[in-house]
Parts: sequence; structure tokens; C-alpha cells
Amino acid sequence: MFVLLAAVIANVVSLGALAFVQITVYVNGKEVHLPFGARVAQALVAAGVEPAAGDLIDADGAVLEVGSGNPAQLTLNGARCSTTDRVAPGDRIEATPGTPIIESIVVETTETGQPFEIVGSGSFVKVRLPGAPGKVTVKKGLITGKVFESAKSQEPSAMVIARFQYAVARKLVVLSFDDGPHPVYTPQILEVLRSEGVHAVFFVVGAQVAAYPNVLKRIRDEGHEIGNHTYSHTLTEAAVECDVSSEISDTSQLVEKLTGSPTRWVRPVGGSLSTAFVRAAESTGHIIVLWNVDTQDWRAARSWGRSDEIRLSVSDAPLANGSVILMHDGGGYRGATVQALKAIIPALREQGYQFCTLSELWHFLGLDA
Ligand SMILES: [Zn+2]
Repeated sequence: MFVLLAAVIANVVSLGALAFVQITVYVNGKEVHLPFGARVAQALVAAGVEPAAGDLIDADGAVLEVGSGNPAQLTLNGARCSTTDRVAPGDRIEATPGTPIIESIVVETTETGQPFEIVGSGSFVKVRLPGAPGKVTVKKGLITGKVFESAKSQEPSAMVIARFQYAVARKLVVLSFDDGPHPVYTPQILEVLRSEGVHAVFFVVGAQVAAYPNVLKRIRDEGHEIGNHTYSHTLTEAAVECDVSSEISDTSQLVEKLTGSPTRWVRPVGGSLSTAFVRAAESTGHIIVLWNVDTQDWRAARSWGRSDEIRLSVSDAPLANGSVILMHDGGGYRGATVQALKAIIPALREQGYQFCTLSELWHFLGLDA
């Protein structure tokens, strides 16, 4: 027991004594003198060597983040070491700065525009050529988004839409009203239609339906048909397909919640078609319905007199069997439309026309199946 304790004391004494002993090590070939038991970090300081980590750079070599690259490399006599390792006399430390990390390059294929062509005229549309959008493949930095290479991977080809009218064997016409429901004018129009015993189609705006759900229910309750005229009525030809789809779906779901049936017919804002609108109508299961007779009732201002209102009559328009007539029950002053409607219905009846909804027209044409 005594012998062991003596040995421990002797050891401690000798270690204390050794702390005053200088040793020589080499950092990147430079000789430095350190106390016995010193660590690699002290050797680096003594040699004035401060190996930095590499930088994060982009593919062009520009520095994105200093020091975010690979860490510096340290070796002690050829083996990897850390700054806390102890050095022994004659040790050789090599300190190498970290190498840079180049940001990852991602390859992305994006769709470019697609030419759009409409041929013919009429209330209905069919896709003659679906075409395809152009595609561009780009290589770009994951962090910076910097494009290093861009190449066309597919040339665009036009979507061609044909507008047409159905050849209808009977003198049937469809009255359609856009931009409602409106709390004032829609009920007035419904009153005229009820007294004339006519059923029409109302292309409703989702936001208006949300504001006046009871007016929508009244349209349905009085036997009229409800079409979809987007939700916000703000979509332009530049709108992308997913935005068009969600506007159509939102309105359809709202109409279904209130009436029990989703919408089947859809009309774009201002009648403006685009590849996105055609695809969105198809993906949401809607049939696009435009018009071939425009009463231009939207031009009617409050200041118009009665004679001007009569100019809303469709008698001068190129009316034919199966015509779809455009009017508005919302979106502004529609007093002139209400007055004109009172003249339009008897005038068309006099010409032998009967009024039907789009579903009735479809049924008559045998398109239901
Ligand atoms: Zn509209």
C-alpha cells in the first residue's frame, strides 16, 4: 500500500516538473516550441496558422456564404486529428484550409405559353386541336435559382377551338343572364319570366351567390337553370388553369350546397376563352356556353330613355334556331334589361320562337346520353 502511494506521488511530481519542459513540433513544416502536454490548437496559434473552412459558392464561383463549405483538415503525423489532441515532441501537424462546396444544381422543366386560336362563331365550342404547351428545361442553382443552362425541350403547338351553333330543327332559343344573382334586378327579371311563363339560364358569379343565397334559391325554385360564371368575375385570359379550376369548382360547390345540384354549364368572364379556361372547364366536367346574340344590355346606363331601352330588343340580331341570347341580371344598373325583356319575349314569340333552358335544348338535340 505504501509502495503504491509513493509511486503515485512520484508520478505527479514528475508530471509537474515536465510542464516546464519545452517540446518542438512542426506545423506545416514550421518549427514551434510548446510546453509539454500542449494541444494541437496551441501549436496552430504558435505557428500563426488559422486554417479556414471553405466557402459555399455558386456554379459560377461566386461566394454565397463564407465558411459554409467543407471544414479545414488537420492531420497529426499523417492521421486525422482534432484541435484538442495532445502533441508529443517531433510531431508534424498539417493544416489545410477547407475546400468550397458548390451549390447543388437542379434540373427543372417548365411549361411555356401555348398559342390559342378560335375559329368560327357561335354559342358552343369544341376542341379541334388540343395542341401542347412548349417546354423549357433549365439547370439552376438550388439556393440562388441562378440559371446556368436553358434549352427548349418541346416546341409549343396551338390549341384550336371551333365555335359553332347546333342545327336545331325547332324554333327554340335560350335566354341567358350573367353576373347575378342581384338583390334588386334578379327578382324583377324573375317576375317578368314568371308572368311570361319562360324558363331561362342564369350564369351566376360565386361571390354574388354567397351574398344573396336566397335569390339563387328563388331562381332554382322558379324552374330556371343555373350556370357557372366563375367565383370572383375577375379572371382574365392570362389566368392559369388551377386558378380557373378553383373558381369554377368553388361556385359549383356553393350552388350545389344551396340547390342540391352542381353546375353543368360554364361561361368565361367577358366570353374570353383561353387554353387554361378550356382545360379547366374540361377538368371540372363543365360544358362551355357562350352566346351568338348579344343584346348589349350592359351598355345601358341609367340615363337611357325608354326608346333606347327598346334598342335592347334582339329583333335586329342574327337570330336563328338554337340561338343563345346574352343579357345581364347583375353587375350594374339593369333596369333597362328588365324593361327590354318585357318587349323581347313577345317579339320573339311573334316570330314563332319558343324559349328553353340549355338542358332542354340538350335533350331536344339528343345530347343527354
Ligand atoms: Zn360576366
